[in-house]
Amino acid sequence: MTTSTSFRPVIAIHGGAGTITRASITPAQQQAYREALRDVLHGAQQKLAAGAPAEEVAVEAVRLLEECPLFNAGRGAVFTADATHEMDACVMRGRDLACGSLAGVSTVRNPVRAALALMAAGGPVFMIGEAAEQFAAKEGCEMVARDWFSTEQRLAQLRTVQAAALASGREQVALDHTAQSQTPAAPLDERKKMGTVGAVVLDVHGHLAAATSTGGLTNKKPGRVGDSPVVGAGTYAKNAVVAVSCTGVGEAFIRGSAAHTVAARVELLGESVAQATAEVIHRVLPPLGGDGGLIAVGADGEVSLCFNSEGMYRGQIGMDGEALVAIYANDALAPA
Ligand code: ASP
Repeated sequence: MTTSTSFRPVIAIHGGAGTITRASITPAQQQAYREALRDVLHGAQQKLAAGAPAEEVAVEAVRLLEECPLFNAGRGAVFTADATHEMDACVMRGRDLACGSLAGVSTVRNPVRAALALMAAGGPVFMIGEAAEQFAAKEGCEMVARDWFSTEQRLAQLRTVQAAALASGREQVALDHTAQSQTPAAPLDERKKMGTVGAVVLDVHGHLAAATSTGGLTNKKPGRVGDSPVVGAGTYAKNAVVAVSCTGVGEAFIRGSAAHTVAARVELLGESVAQATAEVIHRVLPPLGGDGGLIAVGADGEVSLCFNSEGMYRGQIGMDGEALVAIYANDALAPA
């Protein structure tokens, strides 16, 4: 537990980073995203205010994001090249470095809940595919049909990416942020957006936790796993140091050990959370092709919402219950 006597409990969330198509959408469409972020923050804040442990608050925030089809996790997850869904999720508790990760699941309604169950079971810390689904079912997690996650918009997105790949004569595009096609009505271009969701929490007891959940990248190779469920890459939390959840080109975040590098800089170099996150997002990741962003909260409640893309769905809420959200780079956090 942190030794700090003055810390501000807080929840920060992200719903993915990416390219902006501000001009092509209506204020009402932007507002829908802002309100979705706000509602998730309010939902999770009830647990924070009630004194729930950080990992439960983080999982609740991510569960609510999974339930919202606007974001690429749970219902609304993107499609693989085979037009299936393979979802990944992770939760990590800063108090004792306990964690649970799942990869390649396609029938667990809320992968982040299954990750929490895995963490609670005390090992193994990482499970994949059918065995992970069997574990989730045994733990009482809600299971659903494979097509429960599918939305028409995501299928159209896959077909567009595949058509662009075919037209270019290159192997099918694996990363949706590099594809080219027409623009759907969302503030961040759905074809150029990393839509993972995540939450970081400093609870009222001074404990940290992080959780992340994703459908991965549109048109990804079946079996491909990104950074989100990889502890130290897409997710990390250590009490008295920092909690981190990332979104972006998973391969780069894995190669740069992004989340753990933030923690190491805070812990070993004594950098502030703002300094450490800026270093990783603006200096460590770009040479690796690491477009994206991350959210982080330190032991005192210092929050950083940092990205090198043109926007990131993001927000935060403290004990006062005022939800602040933003989408674009030059957006100040504000009530929705
Ligand atoms: N990081 C995720 C992955 O590579 C994608 C995302 O952030 O949307 O699977």
